[in-house]
Amino acid sequence: MKISDTNTNILITGAGLCGALLGLRLAQRGYTVNILEKRPDMRTKIVDAGRSINLALSDRGLNALKMVGLGDKVKELCIPMKARMIHPKNGAVITSNYSGRDDDYINSISREDLNKLLLDKADEYDKVQIDFNDEVLSVDVKTGSVEYKDSETETVKQWHPDILLGTDGAGSKVRQAMARQREFFFSYTTDWLPHAYKELRMPPADDGGWRIDKHALHIWPRGGFMLIALPNLDGSFTMTLFMRRKESPQSFEQITTDEEVTAFFKEEFPDVFDEIPDLLEQYQRNPVPPLGTVRCSPWTAHGKVLMMGDACHAIVPFYGQGMNAGFEDVTVFDQILGECDDWEEAMKRFSVERKPDTDAIADLALDNFVEMRDSVSHPNFQTKRAIEMKLESAFAKAQYSSKYSLVTFPPEGMGYREAMKRGRAQDKAIIWLIDNDLIKVEDSAESLLAAINKKTEEVIWHRS
Ligand SMILES: Cc1cc2nc3c(=O)[nH]c(=O)nc-3n(C[C@H](O)[C@H](O)[C@H](O)COP(=O)(O)OP(=O)(O)OC[C@H]3O[C@@H](n4cnc5c(N)ncnc54)[C@H](O)[C@@H]3O)c2cc1C
Repeated sequence: MKISDTNTNILITGAGLCGALLGLRLAQRGYTVNILEKRPDMRTKIVDAGRSINLALSDRGLNALKMVGLGDKVKELCIPMKARMIHPKNGAVITSNYSGRDDDYINSISREDLNKLLLDKADEYDKVQIDFNDEVLSVDVKTGSVEYKDSETETVKQWHPDILLGTDGAGSKVRQAMARQREFFFSYTTDWLPHAYKELRMPPADDGGWRIDKHALHIWPRGGFMLIALPNLDGSFTMTLFMRRKESPQSFEQITTDEEVTAFFKEEFPDVFDEIPDLLEQYQRNPVPPLGTVRCSPWTAHGKVLMMGDACHAIVPFYGQGMNAGFEDVTVFDQILGECDDWEEAMKRFSVERKPDTDAIADLALDNFVEMRDSVSHPNFQTKRAIEMKLESAFAKAQYSSKYSLVTFPPEGMGYREAMKRGRAQDKAIIWLIDNDLIKVEDSAESLLAAINKKTEEVIWHRS
């Protein structure tokens, strides 16, 4: 099928963040797009919007939103977060900026507001039709056809599109069908973390404002577990407790009764305990979803089917990049569509070229869990960050960016894989230089940059 033929009939499964953006972009390219979404329309009915209440949106995601003309509108829904605020168990709060550059910050945004923004924009295009309450039941990857339940008529219907794009999230029916086929070797793993999460809401203060600094992502690192908080526009914070599911005194299995929850919060997070009057009720009511990493390959089949977003690369949330990566999928695919002649070629190219980047962010997200729950309160981590801030405020992006910045505020065109390679080597170099007393925060920016660059190159070329 020729990419230039806009009569191509495209079906997307799932109108979540990635699916809604993808549908919108393809309509902007002139295609007719249908989307099947199993949940009701969140703009008319209250529904659980999905995997987390709010999210950190950063440059990779913002670039995709700019591409579809939502760059300015989305800003109205965002609260900029310039720093991590670390709440140690004993001692004063530590503020650690995400970047030494003023215009590099991450944004807290409500998942529901963002999804609604995308759906509203998609509605502006006659060529997009979103059918809510329609659940995909099964997929034939050879033909790209789909069986789904039409909830209005309670009947099972079929769809035979020219192209099927699977953006139905971590439990993807498209991926399940890929795993069942026998015509090519499909590799697929889900690695579950021993940790799960529970969301809690810190209400607004009595005057309607925020109880803690709203321009920061708050972290209470406690070694094996941690609590984080992201601000919402209504003055509340969504807090997420990440803790082992079982096999530890600090686990969801062990901390269950009101007495246990009270004792745990008073011991570990006394400042939070005082700010959430209905903590016990929330703790008992809210679910404990698991966390896992999905990897699979290939993402495409028979020149008909392609997956994107969590459907093919769900990751743990510790780099705040799952959605950003899914949005970047759409940007990358859009560029590839502009460079190829037919769909099969474009889908294969995307599947092959994009996977190393999503594998990299999956690894980085796992690494960052250790950093967030443990290393952030370590003195050497603070020294390293102070040096990185100094370099970022003195030099342009292309000359120096920390690993966090390479991932989150990347120099133009830098993928996750390159960010991981460069960032890990830099981290190793800086820690080695600090440990050996070869650099100090007080050194000039020029001499720090020279020493770090030299050592980083050695690390990259395995000379140390
Ligand atoms: C606790 C937590 C915090 C997170 N924080 C961040 C963050 O700060 N920053 C960030 O970038 N990412 C974050 N993420 C990751 C982010 O939530 C996901 O990467 C993102 O939601 C993926 O989007 P998606 O559209 O691929 O999948 P989803 O958002 O899961 O959307 C899938 C859609 O498909 C629909 N669907 C599913 N099955 C079917 C079916 N059979 N038929 C029809 N429709 C179907 C669903 O209803 C849904 O609408 C976080 C994740 C978690 C769990």
